[in-house]
Amino acid sequence: MENHFKGSCLCGKVTYDCNAEPLVKAVCHCTDCQKHTSSAFSVVIGVPKIKFKVKGDTVKNIPITTETGNTKRYSFCSECGSHIFSNIEHENYNEITFIKAGSLDQPALTDITPDIEVFTESKVAWANCGNLSGSFLKNPE
Ligand SMILES: [Zn+2]
Ligand SMILES: [Zn+2]
Repeated sequence: MENHFKGSCLCGKVTYDCNAEPLVKAVCHCTDCQKHTSSAFSVVIGVPKIKFKVKGDTVKNIPITTETGNTKRYSFCSECGSHIFSNIEHENYNEITFIKAGSLDQPALTDITPDIEVFTESKVAWANCGNLSGSFLKNPE
């Protein structure tokens, strides 16, 4: 399994490097991701937070309160608007950074196969993500 991730934003001012086995690779169909990406879903790679090294002083994050009252932080480049990673302030997720897979340079996004899909309650009907090993209406607990 791939274990060295490098990526960047569209303008190149933000880069990251992460040398770790991914904890999860997921398609997220939640409405916040749809809004944030202006697309139908996001693809995220969960990695240990302490292994995720981000560089660039244009990184900003915006806190979003989820319907269950937790805070989710979407981090993006304030120069070009690319979203790069997110974190969830919740006991199950505090140690995880979710890389937005569209920002990957290495490995290529075409080499990433998600394991699961989450928040299928807001999945668009045509977004068939193939043969995934798990599908969850909301987040897996
Ligand atoms: Zn940028
Ligand atoms: Zn989401």
